[in-house]
Parts: sequence; C-alpha cells; structure tokens
Amino acid sequence: MSSREQQQQQAEVVVQRARKAFQTGKSKPLEYRLHQLRSLQRFLKERRQEIADSVKKDLCKAEISLALERLTTWAAPRPVEKNLLTVMDEVYVQPEPLGVVLVMGAWNYPWAVTLQPLVGAIAAGNAVVIKPSEVSFHSSKTMEELLPLYLDKDLYPVYTGGVSETQELLKQRFDHIFYTGSGSVGRLVMEAASRHLTPVTLELGGKSPCYVHKDCDLKIACRRITWGKFLNCGQTCIAPDYILCEPSIQDQLVEEMKKCLKEFYTDDPKTFEDYGRMVNQRHFRRVMALIDGNTIAVGGDSDESQCYIAPTILRDVRVESKVMQEEIFGPVLPIVTVSGVDEAIQFINEKEKPLALYVFSHDKKLIKRVIAETSSGGVVANDCLVQVTICALPFGGVGHSGMGRYHGQHSFDQLSHMRSCLIKKLGMEALNGMRYPPHTAEKLGW
Ligand code: NAD
Repeated sequence: MSSREQQQQQAEVVVQRARKAFQTGKSKPLEYRLHQLRSLQRFLKERRQEIADSVKKDLCKAEISLALERLTTWAAPRPVEKNLLTVMDEVYVQPEPLGVVLVMGAWNYPWAVTLQPLVGAIAAGNAVVIKPSEVSFHSSKTMEELLPLYLDKDLYPVYTGGVSETQELLKQRFDHIFYTGSGSVGRLVMEAASRHLTPVTLELGGKSPCYVHKDCDLKIACRRITWGKFLNCGQTCIAPDYILCEPSIQDQLVEEMKKCLKEFYTDDPKTFEDYGRMVNQRHFRRVMALIDGNTIAVGGDSDESQCYIAPTILRDVRVESKVMQEEIFGPVLPIVTVSGVDEAIQFINEKEKPLALYVFSHDKKLIKRVIAETSSGGVVANDCLVQVTICALPFGGVGHSGMGRYHGQHSFDQLSHMRSCLIKKLGMEALNGMRYPPHTAEKLGW
C-alpha cells in the first residue's frame, strides 16, 4: 500500500469510528457531555507542565467552567414568539448536535485554538476529530498522547500529520469544519467542505489596524499597543498589525513604544526569556522580507539561526510598501501617517475587513464614529487583545477575516443545529378550514 493510500485509510478509519460512536447516541445526554468537559478540565489541571503556555490555559479553563455551569440552559428548548394560529401549540427551537465536527488548529496558540472549539463541540453533543497544526509539533504530539487518557477515544480522536494527511482528512465527510489559520488554507478547507455541503467556521487573520488619535494619553496607549503587538513575538491573530496616526504624534509614539520595549524586554530582548521567536525559518524569512525598504525607527536586528527578530517599529511607511499588503504576523509594527480620523476611516475601509480594529482616544464620540463607519470582526477602544477574555462576546471575523463565531455560548450555538420545532394538537380543526381547497368565493368571504 502506498503512503497516500495509507493516509487515506487512516483518515477514513478515524472519521468512521467517530461517526459510529456518534450514532450510538452516547455523546447526547447532558450528563455525558458534562462528564467529558470535567475530564478536559482535569486534563488541564493535571498536565500543566506538559502544556506550557499559560495564556491559553486560563482561557480554556474559563470556557470549560462556563460550559459546565450553563450547559443545561444552553441545551434547553428555547421558546419563541407565537402567531395567532399557533397560540395553543408548542413552538420552540431545540439545539441539537450536528454530528462529527472537524477542529483544525493553527500553530500560534496551538492549545487555545484547538481546545476552545473542542469545549463548544463537546458541550453541543458532537463527536470531534481534533487536528492540531503540525507546525507546533510538540504540542501536537502531547495532545495526541495525552488527550485520549482523559476523553473518549472514539468520539474525540486526535489526528496528527502535515499537509498531505490533512488533505486526506478533508476528503472525508464531516458535519461541520471549524478551521483556524490563514485565509489561503481557509479557501482550501471551504472548497473541500463544499463537496459534502459541509458548513464551515473559518477563524482567519488579516491586517488589524490601530488608529491612535492625537487627543489620547499616548503613554498609556503605547504601553497597551506594545504589549498587544509583541506578545508571542507578534504571532497573534488579533495583534494590532499597523498604526495609523497623524504625523504630529509619530515621533512621540515611537519614543514611548521604545521605552515600553525596554521596560518589557530589556535592552537585549534576544537574551530575555519573556521575548519569543518566530515559529520557523520560513516565517522568519517572510517577516524579514517585509522590513526591507522601510525606515526602521526601532529594532531591525535579527538572527536566523535562532529565528530571532528584534521588536521592530517602522516609521513613515508608504501605503504601497509590501509590509502593508499582507498580514505581518511577526514583531514588526509599521506606522502609517494619515491626516486625521477621516482619512483613517477611509484607509481602513479601502482594505479587506480585518479581524480586529483598535482605536485609542479620549473622545467617546470619535470612538463611536469609527465603530459606526467601519467594519471588522471585533473592535476595541483603548486596549488590545482583551476582547478574547470576555466569553459573552462572539469571537470571529467578517469578510476575508473569517466567518462564524465562537467563545462561550457562541461556540455551543455555532456547533449546534438550531432545530425549529412546532408541536400542534390534532384538535381544533375548524380553525384550518380556510386553507384547504377548494378556495371558493364563499369560503374566502368574497
Ligand atoms: P498552519 O500552517 O498551522 O495551518 C493551519 C491548519 O491548516 C493546520 O492544521 C495545518 O495542518 C492545516 N494546513 C496547512 N496547510 C494546508 C494545506 N495545504 N492543505 C490542508 N491543510 C493545511 O497555520 P497558519 O495558517 O500559518 O496560521 C496563521 C494564520 O492563522 C494567521 O493568518 C493568523 O491570523 C490566523 N489565526 C487566526 C486565529 C483566529 O482565531 N481567527 C487564531 C490563530 C491564528
């Protein structure tokens, strides 16, 4: 058997086993779902050492606790408004599991982007094939080894592998695909899903703008922006991608962010343990190529052998520059100057709709105006990244930054089918007289 055939067989076996397990109905009872969620909670607690990224641990823990607390309410029938003809009937929406869900994660927060949708998928009563990214090899391996010790192996298998394994997996029929990663692979996922009419959630990226208005407290704005941008070496899907500001505050922004970088990562970020690295050489080279041809205001040093790129700020960046054409996803922050909020809004609207939009200002009216006149997956005023910590806010993109949403109850809803239910009685037939033919003039009252 060729390796391609082996991969095909392996993909088929995993998905068929999950489907069979789903068809037994064992994932449906709420008590069973709660039990699996508790096991996932125990997994995060007992395996802290193996799962080395604290950010996602906390987020996932909050998601699980919320699901445990609210599942009964989320899964209950949701009564809806009735009309005159149905006043005596039962009319409600019943969330029900979709079936077998594929969760495909990206490498940048390998645990968070896999486990968070998993929580929603389990809560909704689905079987889930978990496909972590091969780029974050160690997390993927750990997930493959440890998750089956805590969760039902048939219902929630971990499937690992690279591009060709994933392509085989995508040929299988799923009832939903929940994908986190780049737009280019997102297109492939959607194409594969279309063959089976499988709905998709695509959590993609994009260039998230950050408009800093001159009226704001620049010191505070710069602290928050510097933190949001350089965390995880800029490899965060909702990191501010670039800054828009008036020319009059550009120097001050650069100076303030320079101070913050020194405070956060010392004079020598390369040897400082809290500063990260690019995930691999391919991404290292990609980001270095984006710096070329721009004016470096801060940073710029690099070391390919360590995939190290210093926190870098570029000033007076031209709109046509390559760094303004694609998502940076690295520790490089371009500043583009605009004449004010009008031009900032126009600039943002001329580009694809981003995953996040940040605006810094003391003026609430200006903030509301930016919100009203632009579009993005989410928008935050006067801070960065913190939107992900609020489970009640739907997280997801719009346009090229993705489709569908999750976190908290939104994950449960996204991975459920909202079934319309109408239960009538067989009595009161007289009320229905009008609808049956023949539609004579007498019957219609003409
Ligand atoms: P990646 O390369 O790890 O790919 C993501 C998934 O796609 C992996 O599971 C991988 O195995 C699979 N894959 C890769 N190439 C494939 C192919 N040719 N065919 C089939 N499957 C394939 O991750 P990435 O795409 O480099 O992730 C970075 C992107 O993800 C950024 O654009 C970032 O903004 C985005 N992202 C978005 C979110 C979000 O929540 N919206 C979160 C994290 C990352």
